[in-house]
Amino acid sequence: MDVRAQIVMVFNLDKCIGCHTCSISCKNIWTDRKGAEYMWWNNVETKPGVGYPRQWEDQERFKGGWVVDGKKLKLKAMGKGPTLANMFFQPNMPKIEDYYEPFDFDYGNLAGAKESKDQPVAEAFSQISGKKIEEIQGGPNWDDDLSGSQVYAAKDLNLKDKKVIESYDSMFMQYLPRICNHCLNPACVASCPSRALYKRGEDGIVLVDQEVCKGWRFCTSACPYKKVYFNWSTGKAEKCIFCYPRVEGGQCNACAHSCVGRIRYVGVLLYDADAVEAAALKGDAELVEAHRDVILDPRDPEVCRQAKENGISDQWLDAAAASPVYALVKEFRVALPLHPEFRTLPMAYYIPSLSPVLSTWGDTHKLLEHGMIPALETLRVPIGYLASLLSGGNHAVIEEALKKLIAIRVRMRAENLGLPADPELLADAGLDEAAAKRLYRLFTIAGYNERNVIPPQQREENDPEKRRQEGGFGILKKTRRGGK
Ligand code: SF4
Ligand code: SF4
Repeated sequence: MDVRAQIVMVFNLDKCIGCHTCSISCKNIWTDRKGAEYMWWNNVETKPGVGYPRQWEDQERFKGGWVVDGKKLKLKAMGKGPTLANMFFQPNMPKIEDYYEPFDFDYGNLAGAKESKDQPVAEAFSQISGKKIEEIQGGPNWDDDLSGSQVYAAKDLNLKDKKVIESYDSMFMQYLPRICNHCLNPACVASCPSRALYKRGEDGIVLVDQEVCKGWRFCTSACPYKKVYFNWSTGKAEKCIFCYPRVEGGQCNACAHSCVGRIRYVGVLLYDADAVEAAALKGDAELVEAHRDVILDPRDPEVCRQAKENGISDQWLDAAAASPVYALVKEFRVALPLHPEFRTLPMAYYIPSLSPVLSTWGDTHKLLEHGMIPALETLRVPIGYLASLLSGGNHAVIEEALKKLIAIRVRMRAENLGLPADPELLADAGLDEAAAKRLYRLFTIAGYNERNVIPPQQREENDPEKRRQEGGFGILKKTRRGGK
């Protein structure tokens, strides 16, 4: 057992209101620069929809992530041949039109235009070429709130039954906020021929060393979440840095801090680096359970002993024991990894959205007690859709999580309205009273310090440069250079 600490974010999809405040706070701090105009390290997509960059989930086209090759993992787009051939051209990388051509408006023209019979307008111009844009063709959230859904939502690869979008009566919608997942088995790190990308030993944050990056862009191709970007001005790769200057001081990320819906939780997980490769090799349907198996119990004395041997401080162990992330991911099993089938073991987790009260307009769906909350089998958001997003297609994993959310909702509604509650409902969902209360508190009124348990770094006790010199850990030792 090789115990490591990872700082992790959980998103409660039930509560995201799609306000994009998180994206704007990130943009203002980190990517409001030349060459980074089109980058959204944090973005929020409408689902069903194509996302940003468009159809990033399509690995047949973009060839990101890992595939199982016999008993080994292999980067989907890499191998000896393609590595050499792609040194100067990445054929699978998204093009600027897959993101969008970044634009601004010439507001000076409103006051400075020559006299004319027409009203002056602020024309759009490209932030890359400076040329006028006649017609804007895209933006980072172009299909926001299902705009153009017959075109965009229909192209969502997770939506197998296209019939649901043919009628607004059966249509559903949710938001999907995304950052870099700071994966345990990061394809970006493994693909970099210059070793510019690295996973920090002390907290698992994945970073690009700007001094070392040569701009080969293998990382952009290899990341299946398309969360490494190429800065066209500096010629280097850039990505979400998990706000490490804030996190090192014990503060949560700007996106989480500014989140209007208070949907985000940040905390520490302990995991076994020796178990990462075996977990990534599991079949699609077993991957969520494999993720959970890699995560270690921070209250287990043997785990704590080995963690200390690996240089993890008492402060970090205390934070791991109080981690809201551990409670949501491992203890209560309601937070799930995004597209685990990409096999990078993403360290951002999502609580699936619970559908609205009506499953479809005018239907006769089954309602649980008090006639307000639909039963699992009649939820409006198809279970198969959520399974495609969050469980490698495993319906049982989604049903287990949703059953808990429904039971808590019914239980707490009954309590707040003084109605009788079905005593079996919580037990059927695998919860007891105390667990339901704890989860309810986390989902609703938990304050900043409950939602974010972030220990500050103790630089005097850590030597991240030494860890980096060691060449990473776990599977990264073997795969940093494209599987060689
Ligand atoms: S999501 Fe994972 S593979 Fe992609 S950039 Fe982040 S750490 Fe790398
Ligand atoms: S700030 Fe929070 S609620 Fe608003 S879009 Fe971002 S994640 Fe969703």
